[in-house]
Amino acid sequence: MGLLTGKNALVFGLANDKSIAWGITQALHREGANIGISYAGEMLEKRVRPLAAQVGADFVEQCNVDSDEQITAVAEKAKAHFGEIDVLVHSIGFANKNELQGNFYDTSRAGFHLAMDISVFSFVALAKAFQPMIRRGGALLTLTYYGSVKVAPNYNMMGVAKAALESATRYLARDFGPQGIRVNAISAGPVRTLAAMGVSGFRDMHRNFVEMAPMRENITIEDCGNAAVYLCSNMSAHVTGEIHYVDSGYNIMAAPDPNSLKEQKGE
Ligand code: NAD
Repeated sequence: MGLLTGKNALVFGLANDKSIAWGITQALHREGANIGISYAGEMLEKRVRPLAAQVGADFVEQCNVDSDEQITAVAEKAKAHFGEIDVLVHSIGFANKNELQGNFYDTSRAGFHLAMDISVFSFVALAKAFQPMIRRGGALLTLTYYGSVKVAPNYNMMGVAKAALESATRYLARDFGPQGIRVNAISAGPVRTLAAMGVSGFRDMHRNFVEMAPMRENITIEDCGNAAVYLCSNMSAHVTGEIHYVDSGYNIMAAPDPNSLKEQKGE
């Protein structure tokens, strides 16, 4: 019996087989959850449907989270299909490419609003729409990045959005706590995905990560999936409002380890 047998899990943010949402979907499925998938728009459908079939998901629905109507519609469809939901995963982020390079002060008003709307408000809006159908013992989960706490060059607007998302996670944890529902975030190390490639200099950041991280290894979408199983199952009962790092320990370091630099040079 899996850790999530008999649970209904809805995953938002699947784009392709590189998506963090895919690592999470596979892990939730492995642990016995019934999977539902929501994706952003028509252009992604031909990538998403075959992945959904691999995990036996027969709830596959489009939802652009910039639309209140689409959020309401997907919630109504989920209610009709599943009745109740145990796990809701929000693996969505977006900022215009021009906001992910250069100086942060060049962020436009419209770009600021857009990134906050899609990357932060959508989590709040989904939480509200699904609140009536999430079962006691259920869990909400979002994805964040360390650029919320420290400056990651070029991450700019997304860093500010992730700071707001982490705060929203704590406020939602307070709201949902009395219902016995937990709200947490995974702070993932860099992973080569569609969204990440939009950040200027991401390839270098991904490469340099292993020099700083105590474990000297990049993380995988499978790592995020396994952490998601913990955070969405009874294994983490009474853990809520937390930012859980899956980053090979990168966030505990204040400077690159000289031993790591020697290892790189083969000394
Ligand atoms: P991804 O491109 O695979 O996923 C991002 C998803 O957001 C896509 O499925 C996209 O369709 C969806 N999305 C964007 N705008 C949307 C909208 N208006 N409506 C609905 N969906 C929309 O990339 P990913 O890296 O897997 O990103 C998932 C989450 O993980 C994001 O929140 C991202 O910030 C976060 N994250 C990524 C990394 C990384 O290095 N890749 C690190 C830490 C956190």
